[in-house]
Amino acid sequence: MTARDDLPTGEFGLIAWLRDRAPSYEAVEIGIGDDCAALCVDSGTRLLVTTDMLMDGRHFRLDPDGPEAVGYKALAVNLSDIAAMAGEPLAAFVAVALPRRDATRIARGLFAGMAPLARRFGVSLAGGDTNAWEGPLVVNVTMLGRAVPPGPVTRAGATPGDRILVTGPLGGSLLGRHLRPEPRIREALTLHRAARLHALIDLSDGLSSDLGHILDAGGGLGATLDAAAIPIHNDAVALAARDGRSPLDHALNDGEDFELCAVVPPDAAGRLLAHPPAGLFLRDIGAIEAAPGLRLRQPDGTTAPLASGGFDHLA
Ligand code: ADP
Ligand code: MG
Repeated sequence: MTARDDLPTGEFGLIAWLRDRAPSYEAVEIGIGDDCAALCVDSGTRLLVTTDMLMDGRHFRLDPDGPEAVGYKALAVNLSDIAAMAGEPLAAFVAVALPRRDATRIARGLFAGMAPLARRFGVSLAGGDTNAWEGPLVVNVTMLGRAVPPGPVTRAGATPGDRILVTGPLGGSLLGRHLRPEPRIREALTLHRAARLHALIDLSDGLSSDLGHILDAGGGLGATLDAAAIPIHNDAVALAARDGRSPLDHALNDGEDFELCAVVPPDAAGRLLAHPPAGLFLRDIGAIEAAPGLRLRQPDGTTAPLASGGFDHLA
């Protein structure tokens, strides 16, 4: 037995363990470890595939959130992963475990939340699976998309000197925004057309954690974030007033913002920020560096290490 056969710890340890062992053949160009897998279906076309499961009590509370909100969120978080590869969404497959007592009403509510969002993004609801049981509601969506030339943007590819951009204010999503994320498909495609993106991820677990994935995927890079440059959502300020954590702490570590974090060469970043294409919200929050680890620079110029405080399902 080698050390690699030890039981993995944490969600990301488990995913890395699976990635090292999962059967993967030539049609899979990008496998486990990014926001989507990319399959090579014919010369040129890359099919993007992603799946996300939402569970009552973990990602939503059916009572009081209601099935429409759950349906919306289940589709939106998968659209967000397609956006995180700068892809175009094509079709969704919806598998549900419905609480038996109220199965039909809940199913109709889920659909009512999904259908308008699917129409808005031109996504077909093309299949799924329906089950009922005595347990809580579980909804799984698998989404297919298409990579857009010059190809999918992965979590890998950041280079020291690159700038780190985000597409919206962060933090405090638990006040309710986490149920109604706006998938940043248009933003991703616009950025992909306008500049060479070195790396891209959607902020699902929290900026400090998700940026950490980009640093890991880049081969152990580092980054320094500018505390004063990080756009802080009003919800982060409101939540901070209640729980005593700072608004910045919420912006760095709360999950489920579903904004995009893009890593771009400095000249491209300068152009994008001087003239944001299509009026996109864009903020430059820091730089990629060769020295491993995440750091935070305060307005007074002092810099300190920043722990990855995002969400880990197995922590
Ligand atoms: P995201 O937050 O973007 O949805 P995750 O953190 O859920 O990404 O997953 C990261 C990567 O690990 C993805 O490539 C995903 O497909 C893969 N992954 C997660 N769980 C499993 C699993 N149980 N088996 C295989 N791959 C997995
Ligand atoms: Mg993602």
